[in-house]
Amino acid sequence: MSQIKIVRIHNELLGTYGDQGNAEVLAFRAKFHGITASIVDISFNDTLPTNGDIYLLGGAEDAAQLLSLEALQRDDTLNIAIERGAVVLAVCAGFQIIGKKFWASGKYVDGLGLLDVTSEPGKKRFIGDVKTTSTVLGFELTGFENHVGQTILGPTVEPFGKVSVGHGNGDGKYDGAVQGNIFGTYLHGPILARNPEFADLLLTRATGRKYAQITDPLASRYAEWRRKVIK
Ligand code: GLN
Repeated sequence: MSQIKIVRIHNELLGTYGDQGNAEVLAFRAKFHGITASIVDISFNDTLPTNGDIYLLGGAEDAAQLLSLEALQRDDTLNIAIERGAVVLAVCAGFQIIGKKFWASGKYVDGLGLLDVTSEPGKKRFIGDVKTTSTVLGFELTGFENHVGQTILGPTVEPFGKVSVGHGNGDGKYDGAVQGNIFGTYLHGPILARNPEFADLLLTRATGRKYAQITDPLASRYAEWRRKVIK
C-alpha cells in the first residue's frame, strides 16, 4: 500500500488539546516511508468514510465530547472500518467515547462500545505530565493529561501503558487500553509528536508493512529529552 487515508474526526470538537497534530505527524512520517497520506477532516455534519486506514479522535471538554458522540452514533461506520482492520487512535475524550459508558456533564452516557472500557468521574482532576511504558512498543512514552474521567478496563482489553509518572486511567498504574488495532490513551502532546515511534507503529498496522527506523533527528531528540525531563 503506497497510499493511506487518515481520517481526523471532529477537529472542531475534539481539538481542544492539540491532538489534531497527530494527523500531521502520521502524514509527515508516512512520506519518509514512501507512502502518500491524505488527511480527511470530518466535521459534525459529515458522514464518516468507511474506507479510512487510520481514524483519529482527540480530547475535548464534556459538552463538545457529547456532541461528537451524538454525531458518531448516527451510523456504524467506525465499527465497519475496525472490522476491516482499520487503525483507531483515540485520546482522552475520544478514548472515553469509543468505550462502553462514560460520565460527562453530570451524567452517564453510553459510548460507541468499540473498546471494553467504562469511565466514571474520578475524585479529582488528573492534570500533569505522564510517563508510561507501552505494553505494545515496549518502551517509554510521554504525554500530558488533563481529565476528570477515570477508566476501568474490561477483560477483553489490555492496558496500553504502565504508568511511572502521572495518573493515566486514574489509578496511577495503567494508561489507556488496546484491543487489536484500537488504541485508547489519556496522553495529549500530541502523543505522536512526543513519541514518533508510536506513529510508525500505527503506520505499520495500517499498511501491513514493516518499516525500518527512519532518520528524523529532531523528533527523536525531542522524544528523548521529554523522557529524561519527566520524572
Ligand atoms: N471531558 C473528559 C474528562 O474530563 C475528557 C477530557 C479530555 O479530553 N482532556 O474526563
